[in-house]
Amino acid sequence: MEQEKIENEISMIYLRLNNIEEKLDKALMTKEKQTELKPTAPIKTMYPAVCSQCGQSCIVPFKPHDGANIKCISCYRESKE
Ligand SMILES: [Zn+2]
Repeated sequence: MEQEKIENEISMIYLRLNNIEEKLDKALMTKEKQTELKPTAPIKTMYPAVCSQCGQSCIVPFKPHDGANIKCISCYRESKE
């Protein structure tokens, strides 16, 4: 009886170990995928817009909404200086 109990416990431990190994494998796989993706720089989506200051068409790294104060690069630089 005692031996059966121990064998049961051992099989339970093996099951848990298998579970942990599976989780580890998944974690490692996702980690590998992440490091694989990291070197590539994030591509920013650019949106066409019209500069509210000089009226020139330009592209901005964000989606321009109605009435937004869009500035082209040269106007943006001017406002910064
Ligand atoms: Zn401008």
